[in-house]
Amino acid sequence: MPQRVETESRKLLGRLRDAMAKDSAGQARLDEIVRLIAGSMQTEVCSIYLFRDSETLELCATEGLQAEAVHQTRMRLGEGLVGRVARSKRTVNEADAPAAKGFRYMPETGEERFSSFCGVPVQRLGDVLGVLVVQSRDAREFSADEVYALEVVAMVIAEMTELGAFVGDGAALSARHQQPVMIRGTVGQEGAVAGNVYLHEPRVVVTNPISDDPEAETARLRDAIDTLRISVDQMLDQTATVDAEQVEVLQAYRMFANSRSWMRRMEADIDNGLSAEAAVEKEQSLARARMSGSGDAYLRDRLHDLDDLSNRLLRILTGQGKDTGVEMPENPILVARNIGPGELLDYGKTLRGIVLEEGSVGSHAAIVARAWAIPLVIHAKGVLTEALNGDAMLVDGEQGIVHLRPDDAVKAAFQDKIAMQTRAQERYASIRDLPAQAQCGTTIALHMNAGLMADLPSLAGSGAEGVGLFRTELQFLIRNKMPQRAELSALYSRVMDAAGGKRVAFRTLDIGSDKVLTYMKPNDEPNPAMGWRAIRVGLDKPGVLRMQLQALIRAANGRPLAVMFPFIAQMEEFRAARSEMDKAMAREKVLGRPLPEKVEIGAMLETPSLAFAPEIFFEEVDFLSIGGNDLKQFFFAADRENERVRKRYDTLNVSFLSFLEQIIQRCDASDTPLSFCGEDAGRPIEALCFAALGLRVLSMRPASVGPVKHLLRRSDLGEVKAVIDTARARGDQSVRGAISDWLRDQNSGN
Ligand code: PEP
Ligand code: MG
Repeated sequence: MPQRVETESRKLLGRLRDAMAKDSAGQARLDEIVRLIAGSMQTEVCSIYLFRDSETLELCATEGLQAEAVHQTRMRLGEGLVGRVARSKRTVNEADAPAAKGFRYMPETGEERFSSFCGVPVQRLGDVLGVLVVQSRDAREFSADEVYALEVVAMVIAEMTELGAFVGDGAALSARHQQPVMIRGTVGQEGAVAGNVYLHEPRVVVTNPISDDPEAETARLRDAIDTLRISVDQMLDQTATVDAEQVEVLQAYRMFANSRSWMRRMEADIDNGLSAEAAVEKEQSLARARMSGSGDAYLRDRLHDLDDLSNRLLRILTGQGKDTGVEMPENPILVARNIGPGELLDYGKTLRGIVLEEGSVGSHAAIVARAWAIPLVIHAKGVLTEALNGDAMLVDGEQGIVHLRPDDAVKAAFQDKIAMQTRAQERYASIRDLPAQAQCGTTIALHMNAGLMADLPSLAGSGAEGVGLFRTELQFLIRNKMPQRAELSALYSRVMDAAGGKRVAFRTLDIGSDKVLTYMKPNDEPNPAMGWRAIRVGLDKPGVLRMQLQALIRAANGRPLAVMFPFIAQMEEFRAARSEMDKAMAREKVLGRPLPEKVEIGAMLETPSLAFAPEIFFEEVDFLSIGGNDLKQFFFAADRENERVRKRYDTLNVSFLSFLEQIIQRCDASDTPLSFCGEDAGRPIEALCFAALGLRVLSMRPASVGPVKHLLRRSDLGEVKAVIDTARARGDQSVRGAISDWLRDQNSGN
């Protein structure tokens, strides 16, 4: 890079630092920033556009365009050249901007006088916050060095200012991470809670993005890289070579840690005036932007490795460890990019709420959150960039909205919401001991889903009649080594004690897919949800299944026992699993141990194939339980963990309802007891439709028993069935609209 650009860039950063450190009002500070950049880059115009909401950009400061246009000129994401920069997360450099594709003329800004345009995204760790633009009258393309210098400046702007505060008239600026922020995500689990942020992986905070001593910063960076290389080598030495996947990741780490181009780019950033930390973060930001735009899974994985490695490097440079010693605040709300069910279980029920930057409704972490009735918001874009440990946070699980550092008005409104929620809970408590008897006289048995000892007290509190699904794998997920038979048997026995004679349907281990045991060799499969999981593992490697069945028989100690096998796709699998149970019983008998007074052996119906099993299967099986979460994903061929495709297919889609109806009819014809234990059973409207179609047993998370019972008791199932039939005959894709209209009419007394 030419010496002049480099020195200018450093000088500019120094001036920006001074400007940002002044306590002038926000707008004045932003105005000074654009003035300094225009002066230093020798351009007539410098402007900053920031996101007003996720779709709209607003001109927030300008040097050179009409001052009246500030806070007035807005454009949609993708609109005009500025919108193009924001959408593509890439620099746009045009010598003749008015002739460029997508140019949008905005008369209020007076910009037609300017020919050349260079816009760079203002982004922080891959999240675009706005666009920094310079424009000149003469038609010239900005040099690569100038563009580079502008990107460095954009990085500093993203780092040092609370940009959200600039948007809108009369906006005031305060330091970053002090403004209230509202983030709109997706509902994962309903409920409203107030609490404080607890970061799953505390973010490294860069407090000194600018430095005027490049030699010292380069030396710091090199030292840190050396430390990083040593630690990666140590990790490689300690990793058993059998763990091929981990070795592959570590080798990628080593490749990046030794990458000369990565190092060169960061050194160039430092030469431009950034501190070592800011240089690492700038490269990390670029990698993240590329990661989100890449359709290549392998490349995404490698960019993810680079992201992780950058975090390690930042921790070395800042001395901020992963375990920062931050105490869990009162009423902790866990904030994470993503979390697995095992990690979530480690936190236990201490959490008040969970907010994920990514996540998915169908994941087992979401199921755990629902089982615990912990409000969960997923896809809360930007939450990791905005939230700091201890920040006040309100989670509105009803709307999928998160308020970070809320102001008093939002807090007051939220208190009302919490009060309403409490009133609804009181209403449900008042019907707790009444049956779920619909207006037509039909009674539906409501059971609960569980998986941990801690879930059992809900059995009495929720009014559930029993445990329709006990997910035994949760006990395996919370441990760091395979539990012993005696341990499991003691635990199952306590579960039965706590159930006090109510039926508990124990589902044998359902491992695989997103339920990964850290102490079992990972299984590298292209599509784990359809892979070697659940009963497939149990039958191929029967050691654990046998141990579990034995533990269950011993736990029953003469009491009745109900066991069901997960993910049975064909009759032979059921027969093979059942014969394991028969053998286990025979062994216990030989040992002179008491056998259960009665044994029920069931199967989960989670694959469409089982619905078409031979008649004899329905006669042989003692009971069936529809695992709607899996059944739906295979019925629609839509991954339950992929929000994009999952959301396309409604549970109340007529094809799916007709399929359920066929299963119900087959079970009725063979007198096979049938229940539904997927998440949808806990959603009142879905539960109502299932009951109208003939399901008589529903198993759900404990907190759903009240709302489901409340709706069932107010409804006539015959009428609901008629609404479903009319919608089907009319050719509706989903019956949701028809049912919602009907419910609305019911409520308004029509
Ligand atoms: C289901 O698939 O609906 C089910 C209950 O099992 P899991 O969610 O544990 O896969
Ligand atoms: Mg399942």
